[in-house]
Amino acid sequence: MDDHSYNCGGNYSEVRKMPLTNKEYVESAGNECPNCKSVEISANHMHFDGVKAWCTCDCEKCGATWTDNYELVEFDDLLITKQKPM
Ligand SMILES: [Zn+2]
Repeated sequence: MDDHSYNCGGNYSEVRKMPLTNKEYVESAGNECPNCKSVEISANHMHFDGVKAWCTCDCEKCGATWTDNYELVEFDDLLITKQKPM
């Protein structure tokens, strides 16, 4: 009953059997716990660093924690309104 007690302190060195692969997790749009597939998960504050962004998530059900990683891929809907520079 204690097979998912890894902490979120380190990087990814101690990842054990994950029911969801990264691909499956992305396909679920990050809506499922990678450990128990519960949808009762909560995402915490988003962090940004240049082209990367990440946020830590945790599962209400099994207590697992993990980090969602995002990457800047493009911009869209550029709108230029003529304004005087301040
Ligand atoms: Zn879970």
